[in-house]
Amino acid sequence: MAYTDAIRSRLKKTLDEVREAGLAKDERYIRSEQGVEITVEYPKGSEPVTVLNFCANNYLGLSSHPSVIEAARRGLDERGYGMSSVRFICGTQDAHSALEKAMADFLGKEDAILFASCFDANAAVFEALFGEEDVILSDRLIHASLIDGIRLCKARREIYENADMEHLERNLKTWKKKARNICIVTDGVFSMDGILAPLDRIAALAKEYGALVIVDDSHATGFIGKTGRGVHEHFGVIDGIDVITTTLGKALGGASGGIVAGPKAIVEMLRNRGRPYLFSNSVPPPIVYGALEVIGLLEKTTELRDTLEQNAAYFREKMEAAGFDLVPGETPIVPVMLGDAKLANRMAGDLLAEGIYVIGFSYPVVPVGKARIRVQLSAAHTKEQIDRAVDAFIEVGRKLEVVT
Ligand SMILES: *Cc1c(COP(=O)(O)O)cnc(C)c1O
Repeated sequence: MAYTDAIRSRLKKTLDEVREAGLAKDERYIRSEQGVEITVEYPKGSEPVTVLNFCANNYLGLSSHPSVIEAARRGLDERGYGMSSVRFICGTQDAHSALEKAMADFLGKEDAILFASCFDANAAVFEALFGEEDVILSDRLIHASLIDGIRLCKARREIYENADMEHLERNLKTWKKKARNICIVTDGVFSMDGILAPLDRIAALAKEYGALVIVDDSHATGFIGKTGRGVHEHFGVIDGIDVITTTLGKALGGASGGIVAGPKAIVEMLRNRGRPYLFSNSVPPPIVYGALEVIGLLEKTTELRDTLEQNAAYFREKMEAAGFDLVPGETPIVPVMLGDAKLANRMAGDLLAEGIYVIGFSYPVVPVGKARIRVQLSAAHTKEQIDRAVDAFIEVGRKLEVVT
């Protein structure tokens, strides 16, 4: 036994501090499938109540979509439950390959490779491509998985301030001659603020300075851009962005899986050198079938992403009119700024009591003093449901003196 009093008391001290600061992450049990109307047991052990969900990454409402579930069932029937293998031993079915092809086409890239998650995709991509002669220039606000992925490779890392193109260019100038390769890394959508990275300007700088661009479009794939291909489509730079990493765990059905899409040689390198690809289990057949169905749906019509866009605009307009402090933007991520962590948690709790499920975000997920409630719209929300959410925000907001 090495779980000593010293370790125990150190952990207890830290956890007490987390709780006292109002930063404890308190999971709520959902007793239904994922969707707009969910049944939540909160506090734990109490009678479950039905509430409206405004905090899922279920942007297109596909998490429990009948045809996706049907496709997953077909996957289960035709190809079984699990693979019991990594891809290169005996874990690749025809469907895995078909999904990679579909994702490459959807994202406008030459080829694509499937990982168990986007966290894994990001853990693989830097180490496989870059070494100590290279420099990675990354946005201050990139996702934790990109930060960790960069940490796993030996390249030098320089951070530029969020979406600050002058700062990025200064770095490019500094490193152009000194580095073997330069890689620019950004999220397509910064998920805590709901704002887009300026990929048009990043693509132009990358071209000028000969840098490779990797964009994590997890909060964009499926709905940003005219046909939902992502932020690169939105800015008209599908070819100007070399590599897209993204998740199947958000808009694209919300189960699991990560993608790296880009030039053939990069994808081939990842099949040979991507450690999470080589050493972690293959994505199960029902999920692969479900994801293929999702891509099929999105290739047929833009109806869902169009509805989502309208829903987000409608919610923003009503909340602004009510006097809430929103981060301006055009994505279905709408942060309601509150500042104080305890206030954010209190407000989320009171909203839940009003039947609106949202979550307060605080440090370390966002900077200290920038706590917020992050509202996420879905194509599956009706106008009436959005009205109910806004009404609840106004009622609770007045009570807590957030608005007048
Ligand atoms: C959600 C998210 C991830 C993680 O995706 P998983 O597939 O759940 O591992 C990675 N990057 C970004 C930007 C994300 O938003």
